[in-house]
Amino acid sequence: MTSVALSAPTRSLLHYLSRGATTLKHRHQAGLTYSVRCYYETGKSATGGQAESARTIDLRSDTVTKPGPLMRRVMSEAEVGDDVFGEDPTVNELQQQAAELFGMESALFCPTGTMSNLIAVMVHCRERGDEMIVGDLSHVHIYEQGNCAQLAGVHSTTVTTLPNGTFDLDQLESKIRHGYPDAHYPRSRLVCVENTHNIQGGRVLPLDFLKELRSLTDRYGLKVHMDGARVMNAAIALGVPPSTILQHCHTVSVCLSKGLGAPVGTVLGGPKEFVEQAVRARKALGGGMRQAGILAAAGKLALSDMVGRLQEDHRNARSFAQALLQCDPPVYEVDLAAVETNILKFRVCAEGVSPAELCERAAGVSEAEERALGQGVRVLMFPHVGGSVRAVWHVDISEEDTRLAALKMQFVAQQLAKEKTRAQ
Ligand SMILES: *Cc1c(COP(=O)(O)O)cnc(C)c1O
Repeated sequence: MTSVALSAPTRSLLHYLSRGATTLKHRHQAGLTYSVRCYYETGKSATGGQAESARTIDLRSDTVTKPGPLMRRVMSEAEVGDDVFGEDPTVNELQQQAAELFGMESALFCPTGTMSNLIAVMVHCRERGDEMIVGDLSHVHIYEQGNCAQLAGVHSTTVTTLPNGTFDLDQLESKIRHGYPDAHYPRSRLVCVENTHNIQGGRVLPLDFLKELRSLTDRYGLKVHMDGARVMNAAIALGVPPSTILQHCHTVSVCLSKGLGAPVGTVLGGPKEFVEQAVRARKALGGGMRQAGILAAAGKLALSDMVGRLQEDHRNARSFAQALLQCDPPVYEVDLAAVETNILKFRVCAEGVSPAELCERAAGVSEAEERALGQGVRVLMFPHVGGSVRAVWHVDISEEDTRLAALKMQFVAQQLAKEKTRAQ
């Protein structure tokens, strides 16, 4: 189903090859690991087609999705107005739809998840010396450039993120600034949680954890913000409406541009008063957009039509994980119980093979592979935290893509074994 266009360097490489060379070692060019043949010279390749028939299966992130024909149509037909004046009907509809879905009073369309998390922090932590508590492996803490300190002047203290994406509530309680208002201490204001947890491999926060967290934070008058970039995946995995999860949070940021397939956008949900303040913060950050209905139209479709199908991504991620475990020889390590949604984290346990090298091998296509599999398959993945590899499923990855990607991983496992034997 997915056949991603070749990159410009790959195309020019093939063009070069077509003018004479039959084989070329080019580890560094085009990111391919092995030799590429000149299909044009003989008129046929191992697949009987052209090199361009190599299939690309892009598991780097669920942000790589491209809007399909229906999404593009609703975008082109969207009614629009100036959203900074509050006059874009499509944005207003999206915000209404999101608020209802989240079970929150109000919602705000934001350009990105990074901005919407920052807005939430700015609104929750309004006074100089306010502090938030975050997981040490949270997106907010690791991947947002320290923007809360950099731009909002908010200090963070961390709690240890556990493998299931939660943290220890006793540790959290110990991190609350019990010394305030003694002039030495900042004032604890906010706790951020992440659901599903990205770095921990798409883990779903248990409802019990959220409930206990909320009763603890209520005792201390702290607010709870959920970085719910993928909270729809969590809702689908738990089989509950998102409002069941979000009843435990004051505010939430939900990405429309991840597994839900919209090209741009995040919605920030919360109480009416919070969202009124969020509108101001968004404008200050340069996120007040004008005829944003063109983008919001895609978001509306994402929320109405794309949530149900997340189940397919979860199923595909799981079947790929199972296939990795069945590879012979067994070079992949996966904790199947931890594969709950569309993100898979696994390890390669072949001596001397780094996650980066594995990704390079999975992304490359060789003649041997074409002979063995009848087709070249490029599987794109990223090396990830703690020596692992991350693969993410989304709307542009079919069951067939998943099957082919698994075959490729089996092929890579065999190649690694062969090379090892030869080296001995
Ligand atoms: C992607 C992501 C964000 C940020 O979203 P952008 O739209 O890329 O800025 C925040 N949190 C988590 C967990 C994410 O995966």
